[in-house]
Amino acid sequence: MISQQKPMLSLVIPVYNEQAGLKAFHNSLVKVIEKLTASYEIIYCDDGSIDESRAVLSAIAAKNDKVKTIVFSRNFGKESALSAGITQATGEAIITIDGDGQHPVELIPAFIDAWNAGARVVVGIRKSSKSNALKKIESKLFYSLFNQLSSQKLIPGSTDFRLIDRSVQAAFLSLGESNRITRGLIDWLGFEPSYIKFELNRRLQGKPGYSQRKLLQLAMNSIVSLSPRPLYILGYLGMIVTTLALVLGLTVIVEQLMFGDPLHWRITGTAMLGIVLLFFVGILLISQGIVAIYISHIHTESKHRPLYVIDYLYSKRIG
Ligand code: UDP
Ligand code: MG
Repeated sequence: MISQQKPMLSLVIPVYNEQAGLKAFHNSLVKVIEKLTASYEIIYCDDGSIDESRAVLSAIAAKNDKVKTIVFSRNFGKESALSAGITQATGEAIITIDGDGQHPVELIPAFIDAWNAGARVVVGIRKSSKSNALKKIESKLFYSLFNQLSSQKLIPGSTDFRLIDRSVQAAFLSLGESNRITRGLIDWLGFEPSYIKFELNRRLQGKPGYSQRKLLQLAMNSIVSLSPRPLYILGYLGMIVTTLALVLGLTVIVEQLMFGDPLHWRITGTAMLGIVLLFFVGILLISQGIVAIYISHIHTESKHRPLYVIDYLYSKRIG
């Protein structure tokens, strides 16, 4: 049911230094939305822009009372901007979309169609990006690394151009962690998504706000916040090293010390010391792995994630 006060559709748009393209983006967005419904709200989250984006947003909001703006005191990152917008959104469906024009607004009706057909999460999948070769390699590397390290899988090309239903918003907001990777969290909630493929547009203006350093940070944050698995790797390495040292040590004991070097290997004392050292390095790595198990428990606990997410409750009156 569409209530009177609450809009049907909320749009959440993170904005960071987009002064030149913002107005054109807004106009194209409103054109598409107004064809769909009059019941909408547009929430711009200014993530501490240092250009004139705030002034542009105030001008936009002054003309259209369906526009709300959240302005951060400084740059907190797109993920925080998205969370702020999703928290404020009151619509039955919430669409997150970039404010730089790269996510095609013309596809919004397709998102709504998928939602009307029952999907509670609709994910935009980037078909082929026009970004440079370096970015492509980076993104391939990230996805393969992530999917190997994490039990939760990310679909290559999945973007923050998404629709979530109100029920998913509630579940999303119940997640307590402060290191939030919006995409990963929505995926974690587990609602079956429906996918819409799209071709990434060129930026309307300016440079992407994500520098190489910020991207690397984001990639590391995504992996660390979603999976404790990298912590265990050292432990496994330790097991391999210890086993190797044990096999080597036993061979030396049998060949040299017990049988008096029949194969003439002439293993020196230094080599034997090396094997002993290898053994202890292995033990240390295993100890790290054990510590990792405890840390991963703390890591999981400290996020205060809900124990479960309810899809729906089913009750049938008997008698
Ligand atoms: N953005 C933001 N905070 C930042 C960086 C970017 O809110 O620190 C916004 C930006 O204005 C845009 C969206 O997030 O609307 C995507 O950013 P960008 O285009 O830099 O990333 P890319 O397209 O390379 O993923
Ligand atoms: Mg962009």
